[in-house]
Amino acid sequence: MVKPTGPICNLACTYCYYLSKKEFYHDRCHWRMSDAVLERFIRQYIAQQDVQEINFSWQGGEPTLLGIDFFEKAVHFQKLYCPPTKRVVNDLQTNGTLLDEDWCRFLHENRFLVGISIDGPQKLHDIYRVDRNGQGTFNQVISGIRNLQKQRVEFNTLTVVNKTNARYPLDVYHFLRDELGSKYLQFIPCVEPVDFKTTAPGNRTEPDSYEPAHEANQPESPNSVVTEWSVHPEDYGTFLCTIFDEWLQHDIGTVFVPLFDNALGQWLGLPSSTCYFSEICGKALALEHDGSVYACDHYVYPEYKRGNIREKTLAEMVYSEQQACFGLDKQDRLPGYCKDCKVLFACNGECPKNRLLRTPDGEPGLNYLCSGLWKFFHHIDPWMKQMAEELRAGRPAVNIMRNLENKTIPVISPQSLHRPSRKQNVEYPCDNGYKSKKCHYPNNPASISEEK
Ligand code: SF4
Ligand code: SF4
Repeated sequence: MVKPTGPICNLACTYCYYLSKKEFYHDRCHWRMSDAVLERFIRQYIAQQDVQEINFSWQGGEPTLLGIDFFEKAVHFQKLYCPPTKRVVNDLQTNGTLLDEDWCRFLHENRFLVGISIDGPQKLHDIYRVDRNGQGTFNQVISGIRNLQKQRVEFNTLTVVNKTNARYPLDVYHFLRDELGSKYLQFIPCVEPVDFKTTAPGNRTEPDSYEPAHEANQPESPNSVVTEWSVHPEDYGTFLCTIFDEWLQHDIGTVFVPLFDNALGQWLGLPSSTCYFSEICGKALALEHDGSVYACDHYVYPEYKRGNIREKTLAEMVYSEQQACFGLDKQDRLPGYCKDCKVLFACNGECPKNRLLRTPDGEPGLNYLCSGLWKFFHHIDPWMKQMAEELRAGRPAVNIMRNLENKTIPVISPQSLHRPSRKQNVEYPCDNGYKSKKCHYPNNPASISEEK
């Protein structure tokens, strides 16, 4: 992930975790990746790939602030260093507000895949996605999207699921699908600890006692571990379940929600394609505008700096022992509560940056989103099993959508998906006679819905 303009952005979204990174640099910093760093990075990155398709992911801050000429140079270096047997693919994550016709022509000609950050219809988008004067940016984003559509640029949407839009899942989904025509919908939960600007995730101390997330996240609560715009974990679960039900009944095979595709892969026993739900991580490093490389986009803090591309090779930093430990920690630091969990194979404790709570038995490292994730993975289990069965039999997963015609999907009630405590869980043996600890072993999706 490349951040060629560092944290600089033309907007000032309330929940942005990146704007504050400016404080790590001196006042006279040039927020623009130099040609030398750009060329060095592209040459080394291409040389290190053993895949046919080499993917460059440009993010920010707001990368379009650099102007088209910066990306013309990037494409030039890519052509220069990419061997004829391989192919380069670029994706650009943007707030969309600067995408005029010239930009869109360039993106079309160079086949960039564009990710647009948008949080739903105007009344939801404009709450947190604001400019420096605090004004909503919805109209500028829509104008950018219309320009993309005119120039036939492929785009997808990225929606930050926050405290407010999480309560309107169908408004968000219908807007993205029907009004924007997005066919590829990414959802990212907004979880920001109150001290996120100054404290790196690994340096936080979890609260002394277990605080069920629904209590800990009340803005008025002095015990709140997250900012007031962070999504409520239960709401996040309901948001995903509701959108899943809609997708299940109408959109399998035509609308792609990476979260659902990824889960289906896991129900098929495949590894997660996203770091959030994989057993270990550490392969998504971030390159800053000045050549600094960090362990991850969410760990851009001095203590997670792996070096600078002007002094070390990318390979030295990516394959360093420090980085390997960072990735393995995701698994090694899982609390026993997660290890006993029936959806561990799909969740894997989610992202370590969100592990902000203690478990009921006092162990640190429980994910803040646990109750929502637990609800979601249990809710989709029967459908995932059916889809996986179809695929294993060589039939398309969309078959289950046809089977659902004229049937109704049970309505979700939060009470119906009560999260059992670890103690209860351990006391209940499964059909096969094993204690839950054994039968809930990762990659054993069959055991999920067999809880007694
Ligand atoms: S659902 Fe909760 S307990 Fe289960 S693996 Fe995920 S974070 Fe851990
Ligand atoms: S820390 Fe989180 S976002 Fe970063 S690589 Fe690991 S799972 Fe992915």
